[in-house]
Amino acid sequence: MAAMALPVSVSLSAQTRTVALTIDDLPFVRTGGIPSLKSLDAQAATANRKLLKAITRHKVPVTGFVIEKSVEELGLVPGQRILREWIRRGLDLGNHSYAHPDFDTQTVEEFEVRLFVAKQHSLR
Ligand SMILES: [Zn+2]
Repeated sequence: MAAMALPVSVSLSAQTRTVALTIDDLPFVRTGGIPSLKSLDAQAATANRKLLKAITRHKVPVTGFVIEKSVEELGLVPGQRILREWIRRGLDLGNHSYAHPDFDTQTVEEFEVRLFVAKQHSLR
């Protein structure tokens, strides 16, 4: 085995690692858990309040990805209220498409249209 000497320059910043945290499918994902007597928008508000409290308590930079159809299903007023709370706390929101199709089965054109439609409706 041949030995090689390579000039190595490693700065501290090169060793810094970054992790990006994302929360998908905002404003709310209904699970198959125990049925709740609360309305869906009340469940969503409670879940987001707990999530945002933990995120801000630990000062974690997070980007939430929004499904526009889920905002509409929750109701525009309660859905947008949740998203505005994310923004008010200084968190970023991203476009997770209009209806979260299986992107493996979409053409590029279909993918672009779904992102565009979602962008047109976000936080009107
Ligand atoms: Zn998703």
